[in-house]
Formats: sequence, structure tokens, C-alpha cells
Amino acid sequence: MRLTQRMSRLGTETAFEVLARAQALERQGRDIVHLEIGEPDFPSPESAIEAASAGLRSGLTKYTTSPGLLELRARVAEIEGPRRGISVSPEQLVITPGGKPIIFYTILALVQEGDEVLYPDPGFPIYESMIGFAGGKPVPYPLREDNGFRIDHAGLASRITPRTRLFILNSPSNPTGGVESRQSLEALAELLAEREIWILSAEIYSHFIYEGSHSSIASFGDTASRTVILDGFSKTYSMTGWRLGYGIVPADLAPFLTQLVINSVSCTPAFSQKGAMAALETRAQTIPPMIEEFRSRREAIVAGLNALPGVRCAKPGGAFYAFPNISSFRGTSKEIADYLLIEGGVACLPGTSFGLEGEGYLRLSFATSMNRIQEGLARMGSALARLG
Ligand code: PMP
Repeated sequence: MRLTQRMSRLGTETAFEVLARAQALERQGRDIVHLEIGEPDFPSPESAIEAASAGLRSGLTKYTTSPGLLELRARVAEIEGPRRGISVSPEQLVITPGGKPIIFYTILALVQEGDEVLYPDPGFPIYESMIGFAGGKPVPYPLREDNGFRIDHAGLASRITPRTRLFILNSPSNPTGGVESRQSLEALAELLAEREIWILSAEIYSHFIYEGSHSSIASFGDTASRTVILDGFSKTYSMTGWRLGYGIVPADLAPFLTQLVINSVSCTPAFSQKGAMAALETRAQTIPPMIEEFRSRREAIVAGLNALPGVRCAKPGGAFYAFPNISSFRGTSKEIADYLLIEGGVACLPGTSFGLEGEGYLRLSFATSMNRIQEGLARMGSALARLG
């Protein structure tokens, strides 16, 4: 088969591959602890399930408006703008099936052949994949453990060139859990404004912050006029399978992202959007208990990992991932993750699934129950002890 050249530049998200391998082992009768996939184990809000079911019964089974239902866009603008200290109008919202399409559309709309795009390493693997696929030049900036997995501004500045078109920011971060401070974001905003560099700010974990509160880079100066904020319902509302995400976009860019929606998926299902509207209205009941539970799990997993000989784990400030350093063991991160799956019955991801800087680390999701986390830690302990 002859595939296009661009397909050779397309990456993937390893979490789905490891999940498939873990499920294949389960079909053979093995018990596997799932710490690989970034998906809250909480049920979707009951309010959302009812509203979506009622929507389906009342005939919301057809195509709907491409940028998303106006009522949902208006409500998201009303809630999510002030939460970030910015004013957002419904015209600035583009609703998509999940947050992922916003990465694709933003890059397709803004990055042309040869443009350079700065992205975090380790970072969500779809960034590098999409930049390359679109013909851009991926330029990784490192997030290092000795800097609390936060951005080194001088290092970042040294990677900026006249061809730098877009800067991708993910705070709180997948996979490190690192959170940028307000001061850091303000300084970044200034640095990027001087050079008129666009920003894709992936804020999908913005509710999952365990100390302090979320700040958006879009709240500084006139940064919002060059920023696409990516957020959605997958994590905050435990609605990963509903495919509900959005971009908060400068008003003059929004029609172009909508055109990409029309060209690719036509629209986001209307009944899903009805569910999202209901989920927003019950957020005060559903979000805080989830964050509290994740906070306890974070304590447990970090303490449990640090108690394992040869493992060192920084406490993540946000998201729901632990990113332990396992470089004292022989073998690559990939070999150790494979070993833990096959020999230990624990599915996790090698740090290198998130870039070269991830060598020496594993990513463990603590979006699963405390019991399973404890079981996973016990299994890791005995498997790693056997590794020596
Ligand atoms: N961005 C980041 C940083 C993520 O971690 C994820 C999910 N793992 C996504 C985007 C994708 O979200 P969705 O499922 O809503 O497409």
C-alpha cells in the first residue's frame, strides 16, 4: 500500500495501545491494574445522562449547528470566561467532539509549511504528531524534574526564532502534573507578545489543581487575542465517551475553526451537548467531591511510589498523573513499562510516550480507585524488587 508521506509524520497516543494490550491479557484471564489511561473512574453526572436521554427521545437525533448549540456556547462563555478572569462571547466558542480536535484545527489553521511550533517534552503526544502532520517543524521545550517540571523561561526563549508561529502550553500538565505559577504565565505572556507568537493553551485539567487555583495565560495583557484555550467535559465532568470539548478562540479565528468542523465532522451531537448543559448546572455538586478524592489518591500514590526502593516521585501540583523517576533501574522506560505489564500485571505508560525527555520515567494515572492504586503499588513493589 502506498501511503502519503505525511502519514510517516503522524504519531499516536500510546495510552490506547497499552489499554488494548492490557485488555488482551484480561481476555486470557489475567487481572490487570489499569494505571495507563487518563480517564476519571467517576460516573458521568446523572443530570447529564437524563438530559441527553430526554434529548434523544425528543428528537435531537439530527445534524445540528456546526460551532455548537448557541445555548451551550453562551453558558460556557458565561462560566468559563470569568473563571479565567477574561470576558468571552458565545461567538468565541467552537464546540467539538472532544478536546482533541481543537489541537488539530488550531494547528491546521495557523501553522504552515516550515513554521516552527514549540511544544512541551514530556508532553501530550498528539502535539508533536499534529505539528509534523500539518507540515510544521516541531520544536520541543524540556520540562525537567529538577525544575519542578515547570518551564525554564531562558531555555524557552533560546528556542524562539523568527519562524516560531505557535507555542503550546499545557498547565496542569499531562504527563508530569506540573502547574505553571501566575508569575510564570505572566512572564511567558510578555515574552510571546513581543514576538506576536500564537498560543494554544490546553487547560483541560484546569479544575484538577491541588494547591491554589488555576490561572490562564489568556488573562494577561492582550494575550487572549492570540490564544486558543482548549477545554472540555471529558475530565472535569467524567464524560470522556460523550466526545465534548471546546475551544475559546479569538472571534476572528472562530469561523475558520468552524469551517474545519464542517469539513471533518459536521457538528458535535446535539444530545451530547444537552447533556453538557445539564452537567454545567450541577457542577457545584459533582466537581468538588471528585477533586477531593483525587487529592487523597495523589497523597497515597506519591507516598507509595516514594516508598519503593529505587523510585523517586515528585508530588504533582495538578492533573491526575504521577510521573515517577525510575532511572535507577536497568532498561529503558519502555522495557520497564512492558515488564510491569507482563510480569507485574500493572499497566502504565513509559515516559518516552511523551517525548525523549520522558526517558527514565513512567506515567501512572491515579484516576482509578484507591483499592486498585494500592494493589498496583504492591505489584510494582514486588516486580521492581525482582528487577534488582
Ligand atoms: N489534551 C490533553 C493534554 C489531554 O491529556 C487529553 C486527554 N488525555 C486531551 C487533550 C483529549 O481530550 P478529549 O478526550 O476531550 O479529546
